[in-house]
Amino acid sequence: MSLKSLKPLRHTVSFRLTLWYAALFMLSHMVAFGLTYVLLATSLRQKDHDSIQAKLHDLADQYHAAGLEGLKKELTLQARLQKTQRFFIRFAAPSNATLFVKIPDQWPEFDLRRLEQETLSDTAQWLWIHAKDEDEVLEVAAMRFVDGSLLQVGKSTEERKEILERFGWILGSIMLPVVVGSVLGGMWVALRALQPIRHLIQTVRTIAAGAMEARVPTRQTGDELEELGRLFNTMLEQITTLIQGMRSTLDNVAHDLRTPMTRLRGIAELALGTEADLPTCREALADCVEEADRVRTLLNTLMDIAEAETGTMTLACKSVSVAALLEDVVDLYLEVAAEKDIAVALTAPEDLCLYGDQQRMRQVLANLLDNALKYTSCGGQVALSASQDQHQAVITVADTGVGISPQDLPHIWERLYRGDRSRAQHGLGLGLSVVQAVVQAHQGSVDVSSVPGVGSCFTLRLPLAAALLL
Ligand code: ADP
Repeated sequence: MSLKSLKPLRHTVSFRLTLWYAALFMLSHMVAFGLTYVLLATSLRQKDHDSIQAKLHDLADQYHAAGLEGLKKELTLQARLQKTQRFFIRFAAPSNATLFVKIPDQWPEFDLRRLEQETLSDTAQWLWIHAKDEDEVLEVAAMRFVDGSLLQVGKSTEERKEILERFGWILGSIMLPVVVGSVLGGMWVALRALQPIRHLIQTVRTIAAGAMEARVPTRQTGDELEELGRLFNTMLEQITTLIQGMRSTLDNVAHDLRTPMTRLRGIAELALGTEADLPTCREALADCVEEADRVRTLLNTLMDIAEAETGTMTLACKSVSVAALLEDVVDLYLEVAAEKDIAVALTAPEDLCLYGDQQRMRQVLANLLDNALKYTSCGGQVALSASQDQHQAVITVADTGVGISPQDLPHIWERLYRGDRSRAQHGLGLGLSVVQAVVQAHQGSVDVSSVPGVGSCFTLRLPLAAALLL
Protein backbone atom coordinates (compact mmCIF):
# COMPACT_ATOMS: atom_id res chain seq x y z
CA MET A 1 0.00 0.00 0.00
CA SER A 2 1.49 3.36 -1.01
CA LEU A 3 1.67 6.34 1.33
CA LYS A 4 -0.78 8.15 -0.92
CA SER A 5 -3.41 5.44 -0.61
CA LEU A 6 -2.85 5.46 3.17
CA LYS A 7 -3.72 9.15 3.35
CA PRO A 8 -7.55 8.85 3.54
CA LEU A 9 -7.15 5.98 6.03
CA ARG A 10 -4.93 8.17 8.20
CA HIS A 11 -7.79 10.64 8.64
CA THR A 12 -10.24 8.05 9.93
CA VAL A 13 -11.06 7.91 13.65
CA SER A 14 -10.68 4.10 13.55
CA PHE A 15 -7.08 4.45 12.37
CA ARG A 16 -6.22 7.01 15.02
CA LEU A 17 -7.96 4.98 17.73
CA THR A 18 -6.04 1.85 16.67
CA LEU A 19 -2.78 3.78 16.74
CA TRP A 20 -3.44 5.25 20.18
CA TYR A 21 -4.50 1.92 21.62
CA ALA A 22 -1.47 0.11 20.13
CA ALA A 23 0.93 2.81 21.33
CA LEU A 24 -0.46 2.82 24.89
CA PHE A 25 -0.56 -0.97 25.03
CA MET A 26 3.06 -1.28 23.87
CA LEU A 27 4.23 1.54 26.13
CA SER A 28 2.63 -0.02 29.21
CA HIS A 29 4.25 -3.37 28.36
CA MET A 30 7.63 -1.76 27.81
CA VAL A 31 7.38 0.03 31.17
CA ALA A 32 6.37 -3.23 32.88
CA PHE A 33 9.23 -5.15 31.21
CA GLY A 34 11.73 -2.39 32.03
CA LEU A 35 10.70 -2.37 35.68
CA THR A 36 10.91 -6.17 35.90
CA TYR A 37 14.40 -6.04 34.36
CA VAL A 38 15.63 -3.39 36.80
CA LEU A 39 14.13 -5.23 39.80
CA LEU A 40 15.70 -8.52 38.69
CA ALA A 41 19.12 -6.87 38.18
CA THR A 42 18.91 -5.25 41.64
CA SER A 43 17.88 -8.44 43.38
CA LEU A 44 20.65 -10.48 41.63
CA ARG A 45 23.21 -7.87 42.66
CA GLN A 46 21.95 -7.94 46.24
CA LYS A 47 22.10 -11.72 46.25
CA ASP A 48 25.75 -11.68 45.03
CA HIS A 49 26.70 -9.10 47.65
CA ASP A 50 25.03 -11.17 50.39
CA SER A 51 26.89 -14.32 49.34
CA ILE A 52 30.24 -12.43 49.19
CA GLN A 53 29.66 -11.01 52.68
CA ALA A 54 28.65 -14.42 54.03
CA LYS A 55 31.78 -16.04 52.57
CA LEU A 56 33.96 -13.19 53.95
CA HIS A 57 32.62 -13.64 57.47
CA ASP A 58 32.84 -17.40 57.22
CA LEU A 59 36.54 -17.20 56.28
CA ALA A 60 37.25 -14.50 58.90
CA ASP A 61 35.87 -16.80 61.60
CA GLN A 62 38.15 -19.52 60.29
CA TYR A 63 41.19 -17.18 60.45
CA HIS A 64 40.34 -16.16 64.00
CA ALA A 65 40.03 -19.79 65.02
CA ALA A 66 43.03 -21.35 63.26
CA GLY A 67 45.21 -18.62 61.76
CA LEU A 68 46.38 -18.43 58.13
CA GLU A 69 47.34 -22.13 57.98
CA GLY A 70 43.93 -23.15 59.30
CA LEU A 71 42.34 -20.82 56.72
CA LYS A 72 44.32 -22.40 53.86
CA LYS A 73 43.38 -25.90 55.00
CA GLU A 74 39.74 -24.89 55.16
CA LEU A 75 39.94 -23.45 51.62
CA THR A 76 41.55 -26.65 50.28
CA LEU A 77 38.76 -28.62 51.92
CA GLN A 78 36.08 -26.32 50.53
CA ALA A 79 37.68 -26.50 47.05
CA ARG A 80 37.43 -30.27 47.22
CA LEU A 81 33.78 -29.97 48.22
CA GLN A 82 33.41 -27.34 45.40
CA LYS A 83 32.16 -24.71 47.85
CA THR A 84 34.49 -21.87 46.91
CA GLN A 85 34.55 -22.37 43.14
CA ARG A 86 32.88 -19.08 42.23
CA PHE A 87 34.77 -16.87 44.70
CA PHE A 88 37.98 -14.88 44.40
CA ILE A 89 39.91 -14.96 47.74
CA ARG A 90 43.01 -12.94 48.68
CA PHE A 91 44.87 -12.75 51.97
CA ALA A 92 47.36 -9.90 52.39
CA ALA A 93 49.92 -8.88 54.97
CA PRO A 94 49.47 -5.53 56.80
CA SER A 95 51.70 -4.01 54.08
CA ASN A 96 49.13 -5.19 51.51
CA ALA A 97 51.60 -7.70 49.98
CA THR A 98 49.68 -10.73 48.77
CA LEU A 99 50.29 -13.80 50.99
CA PHE A 100 47.70 -15.98 49.45
CA VAL A 101 45.31 -15.74 46.49
CA LYS A 102 42.70 -18.03 44.97
CA ILE A 103 41.27 -17.24 41.54
CA PRO A 104 38.42 -19.39 40.10
CA ASP A 105 39.09 -21.26 36.83
CA GLN A 106 38.08 -19.78 33.46
CA TRP A 107 37.80 -16.24 34.71
CA PRO A 108 37.99 -13.14 32.58
CA GLU A 109 41.27 -11.34 32.94
CA PHE A 110 41.08 -8.78 35.79
CA ASP A 111 43.87 -6.38 36.68
CA LEU A 112 44.47 -7.76 40.19
CA ARG A 113 47.52 -5.54 40.75
CA ARG A 114 45.07 -2.76 41.66
CA LEU A 115 44.24 -4.73 44.85
CA GLU A 116 47.90 -4.32 46.02
CA GLN A 117 47.98 -0.63 45.06
CA GLU A 118 44.70 0.26 46.74
CA THR A 119 45.04 1.61 50.33
CA LEU A 120 42.07 0.40 52.27
CA SER A 121 40.78 1.91 55.46
CA ASP A 122 40.27 -0.25 58.51
CA THR A 123 36.60 -0.66 57.91
CA ALA A 124 35.30 -3.16 55.41
CA GLN A 125 34.70 -1.66 52.00
CA TRP A 126 33.93 -2.59 48.41
CA LEU A 127 36.20 -2.48 45.38
CA TRP A 128 35.19 -2.83 41.73
CA ILE A 129 37.72 -4.03 39.17
CA HIS A 130 36.78 -4.11 35.45
CA ALA A 131 37.88 -7.02 33.24
CA LYS A 132 40.47 -6.12 30.63
CA ASP A 133 38.62 -6.88 27.37
CA GLU A 134 35.13 -7.68 28.58
CA ASP A 135 32.21 -6.02 30.39
CA GLU A 136 32.48 -8.10 33.56
CA VAL A 137 33.33 -6.48 36.88
CA LEU A 138 34.98 -8.13 39.88
CA GLU A 139 33.21 -7.02 43.04
CA VAL A 140 35.41 -7.38 46.09
CA ALA A 141 34.58 -6.99 49.79
CA ALA A 142 37.43 -6.68 52.31
CA MET A 143 37.97 -7.13 56.02
CA ARG A 144 41.03 -6.02 58.01
CA PHE A 145 41.95 -8.01 61.11
CA VAL A 146 43.36 -6.62 64.37
CA ASP A 147 46.82 -7.90 63.40
CA GLY A 148 46.66 -5.64 60.29
CA SER A 149 46.35 -8.49 57.77
CA LEU A 150 43.65 -8.20 55.11
CA LEU A 151 41.11 -10.70 53.79
CA GLN A 152 39.35 -10.00 50.49
CA VAL A 153 36.54 -12.03 48.95
CA GLY A 154 35.14 -11.25 45.49
CA LYS A 155 32.91 -12.48 42.74
CA SER A 156 32.61 -11.74 39.03
CA THR A 157 29.40 -10.25 37.64
CA GLU A 158 29.69 -12.66 34.67
CA GLU A 159 27.01 -15.07 35.93
CA ARG A 160 24.61 -12.23 36.69
CA LYS A 161 25.18 -10.70 33.29
CA GLU A 162 24.37 -13.98 31.59
CA ILE A 163 21.08 -14.32 33.47
CA LEU A 164 20.12 -10.74 32.65
CA GLU A 165 21.09 -11.20 28.99
CA ARG A 166 18.92 -14.30 28.75
CA PHE A 167 16.06 -12.47 30.49
CA GLY A 168 16.49 -9.57 28.04
CA TRP A 169 16.18 -11.98 25.12
CA ILE A 170 13.03 -13.51 26.60
CA LEU A 171 11.48 -10.06 27.04
CA GLY A 172 12.50 -9.13 23.49
CA SER A 173 10.87 -12.23 22.06
CA ILE A 174 7.68 -11.50 24.08
CA MET A 175 7.63 -7.96 22.67
CA LEU A 176 6.96 -9.23 19.12
CA PRO A 177 3.61 -10.86 19.96
CA VAL A 178 2.86 -7.83 22.14
CA VAL A 179 3.29 -5.49 19.14
CA VAL A 180 1.12 -7.72 16.90
CA GLY A 181 -1.42 -8.15 19.73
CA SER A 182 -1.60 -4.43 20.44
CA VAL A 183 -2.26 -3.57 16.77
CA LEU A 184 -4.91 -6.32 16.45
CA GLY A 185 -6.42 -5.33 19.83
CA GLY A 186 -6.47 -1.67 18.75
CA MET A 187 -8.26 -2.58 15.52
CA TRP A 188 -10.81 -4.66 17.43
CA VAL A 189 -11.46 -1.90 19.98
CA ALA A 190 -11.78 0.73 17.23
CA LEU A 191 -14.13 -1.46 15.15
CA ARG A 192 -16.30 -2.27 18.15
CA ALA A 193 -16.35 1.22 19.65
CA LEU A 194 -17.19 2.89 16.35
CA GLN A 195 -19.77 0.35 15.18
CA PRO A 196 -22.76 2.52 16.26
CA ILE A 197 -21.24 5.50 14.42
CA ARG A 198 -20.86 3.37 11.29
CA HIS A 199 -24.51 2.30 11.64
CA LEU A 200 -25.47 5.95 11.95
CA ILE A 201 -23.50 6.89 8.82
CA GLN A 202 -25.02 3.96 6.92
CA THR A 203 -28.54 5.01 7.98
CA VAL A 204 -27.95 8.63 6.94
CA ARG A 205 -26.63 7.40 3.57
CA THR A 206 -29.70 5.19 3.09
CA ILE A 207 -32.01 8.08 3.97
CA ALA A 208 -30.09 10.40 1.64
CA ALA A 209 -30.66 7.80 -1.10
CA GLY A 210 -34.41 8.17 -0.51
CA ALA A 211 -35.31 5.39 1.95
CA MET A 212 -36.91 7.48 4.72
CA GLU A 213 -37.95 4.36 6.65
CA ALA A 214 -34.31 3.41 7.49
CA ARG A 215 -33.48 3.33 11.21
CA VAL A 216 -30.26 2.97 13.22
CA PRO A 217 -29.94 -0.54 14.75
CA THR A 218 -29.42 -0.10 18.50
CA ARG A 219 -27.92 -2.48 21.07
CA GLN A 220 -28.93 -2.48 24.73
CA THR A 221 -25.57 -1.20 26.00
CA GLY A 222 -26.91 1.77 27.95
CA ASP A 223 -24.01 3.97 26.80
CA GLU A 224 -23.96 7.39 25.11
CA LEU A 225 -23.75 5.89 21.62
CA GLU A 226 -26.88 3.81 22.23
CA GLU A 227 -28.63 6.98 23.40
CA LEU A 228 -27.41 8.82 20.29
CA GLY A 229 -28.86 6.04 18.10
CA ARG A 230 -32.17 6.11 19.97
CA LEU A 231 -32.42 9.91 19.82
CA PHE A 232 -31.60 9.81 16.12
CA ASN A 233 -34.39 7.27 15.54
CA THR A 234 -36.85 9.37 17.60
CA MET A 235 -35.89 12.41 15.54
CA LEU A 236 -36.46 10.45 12.32
CA GLU A 237 -39.88 9.32 13.61
CA GLN A 238 -40.81 12.94 14.32
CA ILE A 239 -39.60 14.13 10.93
CA THR A 240 -41.52 11.31 9.20
CA THR A 241 -44.70 12.18 11.11
CA LEU A 242 -44.22 15.83 10.25
CA ILE A 243 -43.66 15.09 6.57
CA GLN A 244 -46.69 12.80 6.50
CA GLY A 245 -48.76 15.48 8.24
CA MET A 246 -47.59 18.12 5.76
CA ARG A 247 -48.25 15.80 2.86
CA SER A 248 -51.78 15.01 4.01
CA THR A 249 -52.45 18.70 4.73
CA LEU A 250 -51.22 19.59 1.26
CA ASP A 251 -53.45 16.87 -0.23
CA ASN A 252 -56.39 18.17 1.75
CA VAL A 253 -55.68 21.79 0.83
CA ALA A 254 -55.39 20.85 -2.82
CA HIS A 255 -58.63 18.89 -2.55
CA ASP A 256 -60.44 21.66 -0.69
CA LEU A 257 -59.23 24.36 -3.04
CA ARG A 258 -60.30 22.45 -6.11
CA THR A 259 -64.06 22.95 -5.47
CA PRO A 260 -64.05 26.74 -4.88
CA MET A 261 -61.57 27.26 -7.71
CA THR A 262 -63.68 25.20 -10.13
CA ARG A 263 -66.76 27.05 -8.97
CA LEU A 264 -64.96 30.38 -9.42
CA ARG A 265 -63.92 29.45 -12.93
CA GLY A 266 -67.41 28.15 -13.75
CA ILE A 267 -69.09 31.39 -12.62
CA ALA A 268 -66.62 33.54 -14.55
CA GLU A 269 -66.89 31.36 -17.68
CA LEU A 270 -70.67 31.46 -17.56
CA ALA A 271 -70.70 35.23 -17.22
CA LEU A 272 -68.25 35.58 -20.13
CA GLY A 273 -69.92 33.03 -22.41
CA THR A 274 -73.43 34.49 -22.47
CA GLU A 275 -74.56 37.82 -23.68
CA ALA A 276 -75.18 38.73 -20.06
CA ASP A 277 -76.62 42.06 -19.03
CA LEU A 278 -74.99 44.20 -16.35
CA PRO A 279 -76.98 42.90 -13.31
CA THR A 280 -76.12 39.26 -14.26
CA CYS A 281 -72.44 40.16 -14.58
CA ARG A 282 -72.55 41.94 -11.21
CA GLU A 283 -74.10 38.86 -9.64
CA ALA A 284 -71.38 36.66 -11.15
CA LEU A 285 -68.70 38.99 -9.84
CA ALA A 286 -70.26 38.96 -6.36
CA ASP A 287 -70.22 35.14 -6.42
CA CYS A 288 -66.56 35.24 -7.47
CA VAL A 289 -65.73 37.54 -4.53
CA GLU A 290 -67.55 35.18 -2.15
CA GLU A 291 -65.58 32.16 -3.41
CA ALA A 292 -62.32 34.10 -3.30
CA ASP A 293 -63.09 35.06 0.32
CA ARG A 294 -63.66 31.41 1.15
CA VAL A 295 -60.28 30.48 -0.32
CA ARG A 296 -58.61 33.36 1.51
CA THR A 297 -60.17 32.33 4.81
CA LEU A 298 -59.01 28.76 4.27
CA LEU A 299 -55.43 29.84 3.57
CA ASN A 300 -55.38 32.40 6.42
CA THR A 301 -56.67 29.84 8.91
CA LEU A 302 -54.05 27.32 7.79
CA MET A 303 -51.37 29.97 8.24
CA ASP A 304 -52.71 30.76 11.73
CA ILE A 305 -52.57 27.09 12.74
CA ALA A 306 -49.03 26.73 11.41
CA GLU A 307 -47.93 29.87 13.30
CA ALA A 308 -49.52 28.70 16.56
CA GLU A 309 -48.01 25.24 16.23
CA THR A 310 -44.50 26.45 15.45
CA GLY A 311 -44.61 29.09 18.21
CA THR A 312 -44.31 32.05 15.85
CA MET A 313 -47.81 33.40 16.55
CA THR A 314 -47.64 36.84 18.22
CA LEU A 315 -49.73 36.74 21.38
CA ALA A 316 -50.62 39.93 23.25
CA CYS A 317 -51.13 38.19 26.58
CA LYS A 318 -52.73 39.99 29.51
CA SER A 319 -55.31 39.38 32.23
CA VAL A 320 -58.68 38.72 30.57
CA SER A 321 -62.01 38.49 32.42
CA VAL A 322 -63.54 35.14 31.52
CA ALA A 323 -67.14 36.26 32.21
CA ALA A 324 -66.75 39.30 29.92
CA LEU A 325 -65.14 37.18 27.23
CA LEU A 326 -67.94 34.60 27.28
CA GLU A 327 -70.63 37.33 27.25
CA ASP A 328 -68.96 38.91 24.19
CA VAL A 329 -68.96 35.62 22.30
CA VAL A 330 -72.53 34.74 23.29
CA ASP A 331 -73.65 38.17 22.10
CA LEU A 332 -72.13 37.45 18.70
CA TYR A 333 -74.19 34.28 18.30
CA LEU A 334 -77.50 35.37 19.90
CA GLU A 335 -79.12 35.80 16.52
CA VAL A 336 -78.02 32.37 15.24
CA ALA A 337 -79.23 30.75 18.47
CA ALA A 338 -82.56 32.54 18.25
CA GLU A 339 -83.00 31.40 14.63
CA LYS A 340 -82.64 27.76 15.70
CA ASP A 341 -84.52 28.29 18.95
CA ILE A 342 -81.51 27.08 20.94
CA ALA A 343 -81.25 28.20 24.57
CA VAL A 344 -77.80 29.46 25.45
CA ALA A 345 -76.96 29.44 29.19
CA LEU A 346 -73.90 31.17 30.65
CA THR A 347 -72.45 30.82 34.16
CA ALA A 348 -69.09 32.36 35.02
CA PRO A 349 -67.71 33.88 38.25
CA GLU A 350 -67.13 37.63 37.83
CA ASP A 351 -63.64 37.59 39.35
CA LEU A 352 -62.19 34.77 37.24
CA CYS A 353 -59.42 36.01 34.92
CA LEU A 354 -57.22 34.04 32.55
CA TYR A 355 -53.85 35.02 31.15
CA GLY A 356 -53.97 35.15 27.37
CA ASP A 357 -54.51 37.02 24.12
CA GLN A 358 -58.07 38.39 24.18
CA GLN A 359 -58.54 38.32 20.40
CA ARG A 360 -57.29 34.75 20.07
CA MET A 361 -59.35 33.57 23.05
CA ARG A 362 -62.43 35.10 21.49
CA GLN A 363 -61.65 33.22 18.25
CA VAL A 364 -61.29 29.93 20.19
CA LEU A 365 -64.58 30.33 22.07
CA ALA A 366 -66.39 31.54 18.95
CA ASN A 367 -65.28 28.40 17.08
CA LEU A 368 -66.57 26.18 19.90
CA LEU A 369 -69.88 28.03 20.23
CA ASP A 370 -70.28 28.08 16.44
CA ASN A 371 -69.85 24.30 16.35
CA ALA A 372 -72.19 23.78 19.31
CA LEU A 373 -74.96 25.76 17.57
CA LYS A 374 -74.19 24.21 14.19
CA TYR A 375 -74.40 20.61 15.37
CA THR A 376 -77.39 21.07 17.70
CA SER A 377 -80.90 20.67 16.32
CA CYS A 378 -83.59 23.30 16.72
CA GLY A 379 -84.93 23.56 20.28
CA GLY A 380 -81.71 22.22 21.83
CA GLN A 381 -79.53 23.70 24.55
CA VAL A 382 -75.98 25.04 24.76
CA ALA A 383 -74.32 25.81 28.10
CA LEU A 384 -71.12 27.81 28.63
CA SER A 385 -69.62 27.74 32.09
CA ALA A 386 -66.36 28.72 33.77
CA SER A 387 -64.67 27.84 37.05
CA GLN A 388 -61.25 27.78 38.72
CA ASP A 389 -59.36 24.55 39.25
CA GLN A 390 -56.11 25.09 41.18
CA HIS A 391 -53.89 27.15 38.84
CA GLN A 392 -56.15 26.95 35.82
CA ALA A 393 -59.27 28.57 34.47
CA VAL A 394 -61.65 25.86 33.20
CA ILE A 395 -64.18 26.76 30.52
CA THR A 396 -66.73 24.25 29.17
CA VAL A 397 -68.94 24.50 26.09
CA ALA A 398 -71.63 21.79 26.23
CA ASP A 399 -74.45 21.12 23.80
CA THR A 400 -77.33 18.70 23.36
CA GLY A 401 -76.49 18.17 19.70
CA VAL A 402 -75.78 15.23 17.42
CA GLY A 403 -72.64 14.23 19.27
CA ILE A 404 -69.48 12.76 17.70
CA SER A 405 -69.13 9.11 16.72
CA PRO A 406 -66.25 7.14 18.36
CA GLN A 407 -64.70 6.71 14.88
CA ASP A 408 -64.64 10.49 14.29
CA LEU A 409 -63.53 11.41 17.81
CA PRO A 410 -59.75 10.80 17.40
CA HIS A 411 -59.69 12.77 14.13
CA ILE A 412 -61.70 15.91 14.85
CA TRP A 413 -58.54 17.92 15.74
CA GLU A 414 -56.89 17.15 12.40
CA ARG A 415 -56.69 19.87 9.80
CA LEU A 416 -59.52 19.86 7.25
CA TYR A 417 -61.17 16.85 8.89
CA ARG A 418 -64.96 16.88 8.80
CA GLY A 419 -67.20 14.25 10.34
CA ASP A 420 -69.50 12.40 7.95
CA ARG A 421 -72.60 13.76 9.62
CA SER A 422 -71.38 17.35 9.35
CA ARG A 423 -71.15 17.49 5.57
CA ALA A 424 -74.54 19.13 5.41
CA GLN A 425 -73.27 22.06 7.51
CA HIS A 426 -71.05 24.87 6.26
CA GLY A 427 -67.41 24.71 7.45
CA LEU A 428 -63.83 24.12 6.45
CA GLY A 429 -62.84 21.44 8.95
CA LEU A 430 -60.33 23.85 10.50
CA GLY A 431 -62.22 25.22 13.51
CA LEU A 432 -61.03 22.67 16.08
CA SER A 433 -57.46 22.64 14.66
CA VAL A 434 -57.31 26.39 15.35
CA VAL A 435 -58.77 25.85 18.84
CA GLN A 436 -56.16 23.23 19.72
CA ALA A 437 -53.19 25.10 18.22
CA VAL A 438 -54.05 28.43 19.89
CA VAL A 439 -54.85 26.84 23.29
CA GLN A 440 -51.57 24.92 23.22
CA ALA A 441 -49.70 28.11 22.26
CA HIS A 442 -51.15 29.53 25.53
CA GLN A 443 -49.76 26.51 27.47
CA GLY A 444 -53.30 25.24 27.90
CA SER A 445 -55.22 22.13 26.83
CA VAL A 446 -58.51 21.19 25.27
CA ASP A 447 -60.52 17.96 25.68
CA VAL A 448 -63.78 16.61 24.45
CA SER A 449 -66.32 14.09 25.67
CA SER A 450 -69.24 13.20 23.47
CA VAL A 451 -72.13 10.75 23.25
CA PRO A 452 -73.71 10.39 19.81
CA GLY A 453 -77.32 11.53 19.88
CA VAL A 454 -76.94 13.06 23.36
CA GLY A 455 -74.40 15.87 22.96
CA SER A 456 -70.79 17.00 23.29
CA CYS A 457 -68.80 18.86 25.89
CA PHE A 458 -65.54 20.67 25.11
CA THR A 459 -63.33 21.59 28.10
CA LEU A 460 -60.61 24.24 27.93
CA ARG A 461 -57.92 24.58 30.59
CA LEU A 462 -55.96 27.83 30.50
CA PRO A 463 -53.45 29.55 32.78
CA LEU A 464 -54.89 31.88 35.40
CA ALA A 465 -53.96 35.56 35.49
CA ALA A 466 -51.02 36.21 37.83
CA ALA A 467 -53.12 38.09 40.42
CA LEU A 468 -55.17 34.94 41.07
CA LEU A 469 -52.08 32.85 41.67
CA LEU A 470 -51.00 34.87 44.72
P1 ADP B 1 -66.11 22.04 10.86
O1 ADP B 1 -65.83 23.16 9.99
O2 ADP B 1 -66.45 20.78 10.14
O3 ADP B 1 -67.03 22.36 11.97
P2 ADP B 1 -64.20 21.67 12.98
O4 ADP B 1 -62.75 21.52 12.95
O5 ADP B 1 -64.76 22.78 13.76
O6 ADP B 1 -64.68 21.68 11.49
O7 ADP B 1 -64.81 20.32 13.54
C1 ADP B 1 -64.36 19.08 13.01
C2 ADP B 1 -65.46 18.05 13.13
O8 ADP B 1 -65.73 17.78 14.50
C3 ADP B 1 -66.78 18.51 12.57
O9 ADP B 1 -66.85 18.25 11.16
C4 ADP B 1 -67.75 17.67 13.35
O10 ADP B 1 -67.90 16.41 12.76
C5 ADP B 1 -67.11 17.51 14.71
N1 ADP B 1 -67.62 18.43 15.72
C6 ADP B 1 -67.03 19.54 16.18
N2 ADP B 1 -67.77 20.14 17.14
C7 ADP B 1 -68.88 19.38 17.30
C8 ADP B 1 -70.03 19.46 18.13
N3 ADP B 1 -70.20 20.45 19.03
N4 ADP B 1 -70.96 18.48 18.01
C9 ADP B 1 -70.81 17.48 17.14
N5 ADP B 1 -69.73 17.36 16.32
C10 ADP B 1 -68.80 18.30 16.38
